Amino acid sequence: MKILDVRVDDVTYAETVQWVASKIDAGGTHLIATVNPEFIMRAQNDAAFAKVLDEAALNVPDGVGVLWAAKRMGQPMRERVAGSTLLPMLCERAAAEGWRVFFLGAANGIAEQAAHLMQARFSKMQIAGAYAGSPGAMHDDDLVRRIADTHADIVFVAYGAPAQDKWLARNLPRIARFTQSGIVGIGVGGTFDFIVGRRKRAPVWMQRLSLEWLHRLVQEPSRWRRQ
Ligand code: UDP
Repeated sequence: MKILDVRVDDVTYAETVQWVASKIDAGGTHLIATVNPEFIMRAQNDAAFAKVLDEAALNVPDGVGVLWAAKRMGQPMRERVAGSTLLPMLCERAAAEGWRVFFLGAANGIAEQAAHLMQARFSKMQIAGAYAGSPGAMHDDDLVRRIADTHADIVFVAYGAPAQDKWLARNLPRIARFTQSGIVGIGVGGTFDFIVGRRKRAPVWMQRLSLEWLHRLVQEPSRWRRQ
């Protein structure tokens, strides 16, 4: 369905993990965006971002605001699919399948820490690489080579939206050309920070009451404009 002209796909966690498995088997490049209300508002006046979301292979519904809107429009979606919950699920599946996982983004050293914490949880998970890098286009060549050299099957990109999604749209096809194999890329926002405990997710009772946005606003008051 479309919310303010942004396509959002009604998928569950289990379906998303299965979808990734089928795409890794199939080859090609596949971009997943975790669409929350901030994405939708941003896309209203950022045509380049709107195009990236339009062309993304999968736009998962991340955020209760998206579920509320879908319900009000008479097309309820089954489940919220949050990037921060999806990432460990994909790491678990990666461990079982032998996929190589690359962690790109966040502040210096955080991607490495997040990767190692995931590996501590899912010991068979293969870390293709982990690196902060930078989302600006002048760093693209360096990052494309770095990631291509590792033959990653999945790359998690933590630059926040829209930078991470634009980065993936520009660079996933380039990585695939180098390696001549497929790759799935997902923008995961602040997930690495959550994993290493630099930023806390809302307590479970707040998540249940759909108040996670409030918790983030209290932790980072500057977010109010975006929210
Ligand atoms: N970030 C980065 N480089 C940048 C801008 C942001 O690595 O130039 C990282 C930042 O450290 C954080 C992540 O991007 O880990 C996303 O943060 P944000 O809260 O904006 O993302 P959201 O979860 O709202 O999508």
